[in-house]
Amino acid sequence: MTRGELSPAGTAALFQFLRDGRPRTRAELSAETGLARSTVAERIDTLLSSGLLKFSDKANSTGGRPPTTVAFNPAARVVLAADVGATHAKLAVTDLAGDVLVEEDKVLDIAAGPEVVLREVCDRGRALLTQAGRGECDLLGVGIGLPGPVEHLSGKPTNPPIMPGWDGFDVPAFVRAELGAPTLVDNDVNIMALGEYRAHWAEHEHMVFVKVATGIGSGLISYGRLHRGSQGAAGDMGHVRVPHDTDVRCRCGNVGCLEAVASGAAIAAKLTEAGVPATSSADVVTLARNGSVPALQYIRQAGRDIGEVLATAVSLFNPSVLAVGGALSLAGEHLIAGVREAVYQRSLPLATQNLRIVPLRSGDEAGVSGAAFMVIDHALAAGQVESLLTQ
Ligand SMILES: [Zn+2]
Repeated sequence: MTRGELSPAGTAALFQFLRDGRPRTRAELSAETGLARSTVAERIDTLLSSGLLKFSDKANSTGGRPPTTVAFNPAARVVLAADVGATHAKLAVTDLAGDVLVEEDKVLDIAAGPEVVLREVCDRGRALLTQAGRGECDLLGVGIGLPGPVEHLSGKPTNPPIMPGWDGFDVPAFVRAELGAPTLVDNDVNIMALGEYRAHWAEHEHMVFVKVATGIGSGLISYGRLHRGSQGAAGDMGHVRVPHDTDVRCRCGNVGCLEAVASGAAIAAKLTEAGVPATSSADVVTLARNGSVPALQYIRQAGRDIGEVLATAVSLFNPSVLAVGGALSLAGEHLIAGVREAVYQRSLPLATQNLRIVPLRSGDEAGVSGAAFMVIDHALAAGQVESLLTQ
């Protein structure tokens, strides 16, 4: 027997083959991995006793034969996922396949500060665990999305504009002290991108998701994984300058930022100036649904402005799916029609020949689902899962 065959690393590597959920026999796994049957058998035993695998034979219940087929057991642990917005949060407990077991919407004011908000998230999380019939000891981890820039590696928000008191706050340390579970944090747009990707586009490798609401941001999926860049700032496209001349000043201090021109807040301001009172993305959406011509025109133009910036992203990154979501996308086809118009006009044929520009399909589930997958993908990866085998 060579070195490493009985090591946790070898067992963790075998587990990766079974993560797709398909049941396999020991003989199939031996053929698939090239490992000796005895090695496979020992690793399977370790994984069965950890709970990460289960027997999946149907024959066993009727024929009394000893079970021979094993499969990934999504019920082995659970994940607490929280998509925290400016004024509300969505929380869920999921299994290891990302399926929601219980969930809850909660009114929350992000401006109340990290300790108040996170304590509430943890308290509600405990209640949801109880509701799901599970305990804190079953937690694989906690995934949290926040409405501002986050340095993913440390889990600390960085100069978030609408989150007073959160700058540099150690979110993972706080949540771990409360719930005793490892905690991962990212911005809300990234977790939405991941949730939408895993639910609807997993057969594609490269996707861009754009959220158009009070602000504008995007999440990039590259080779099936979130591309965060070196500091977690990748996809933060709200402060790219729109190509056409504009003297609109942005809250960041620059002039002509996409967010200052094409966000829900920017359109509301333009409408108000034109004599149609509006203060939020929701107002703009209501006006558009009621057929307000100025609202529809501004939304269409916002789509074009966003599309011009996205055309650059399409040229640099060549995704096959471009999904558009966020509060303003609820106004109907006008936003996405503007995006399509500009992207197809400003991109070369090779980049757009297989490009689909589509509305978000997951609705408001995308964030909480992505927060769960962020934890699952991290904790069940080969290098991490070993820690579950020794417990
Ligand atoms: Zn700006």
